[in-house]
Amino acid sequence: MNRPPRDPGRAAWDHLVATLEAWRTGFEPPSVTKVAEERHDPFRVLVATILSLRTQDAVTEAASNRLFALADTPAALAAMDVDAIAAAIHPANFYLTKAQRLKALSRRLVDEFGGVVPADLDVLLTFGGVGRKTANLVLTEGFDLPGLCVDVHVHRIPNRLGWIATRDPLATETLLREILPPEHWKPINMLLVTFGQRVCRPTSPHCSICPLAGPPERAGRGDGFPQETLAGAEAASGGSIRCARVGVTRSR
Ligand code: SF4
Repeated sequence: MNRPPRDPGRAAWDHLVATLEAWRTGFEPPSVTKVAEERHDPFRVLVATILSLRTQDAVTEAASNRLFALADTPAALAAMDVDAIAAAIHPANFYLTKAQRLKALSRRLVDEFGGVVPADLDVLLTFGGVGRKTANLVLTEGFDLPGLCVDVHVHRIPNRLGWIATRDPLATETLLREILPPEHWKPINMLLVTFGQRVCRPTSPHCSICPLAGPPERAGRGDGFPQETLAGAEAASGGSIRCARVGVTRSR
């Protein structure tokens, strides 16, 4: 059972988003965001998101570009052989399964939805291979609609900060829908994915360069502090690393 929420309050969320928005300037956005920025097309976002599952960003981007050069509409993708789709998206992880799902999904879009991606979370979830993460990302990046895409980074980092206490991404999404100001729903995924890949990594986070923690001297400790402290915190918390540097003054 999930423990009660520890909502840090609006000021803390506002600060986190503003700080990470400023910090990420100059970094490449995640591959799916790039696809959405290139062309506001829900189908391309849907395909790229499926390709991105358990696959590194650089591989996803290259696979998406190869596939879109061959087919970037439901009708065109439904007409392709599974083997041809698989060849285009290889070496994305699970490329054969993804190829089968992309073809089936495209066929159903053509047959049942007139070739148009439905802008509805519950309907999207009825497609094979489309989970909540994918469906929410299609809503936010593809349609600019409210959605809250919780992946491993969005689940891990607020828990690491002690701002929430949830055991799985669905519980995190449910709780964040209550406590995260709605205007942050869309950007939080892109910001925490970038931050989680580059700084607040699952293991060995780069705390000495953390934009949320400020310069090391502010905490009155040197660069060696984070790893030692986190190691102790990790042991004390049963294996999951707890952030020892980013405090919050609760605003409510
Ligand atoms: S100080 Fe370390 S653990 Fe805390 S948010 Fe920054 S990178 Fe993550």
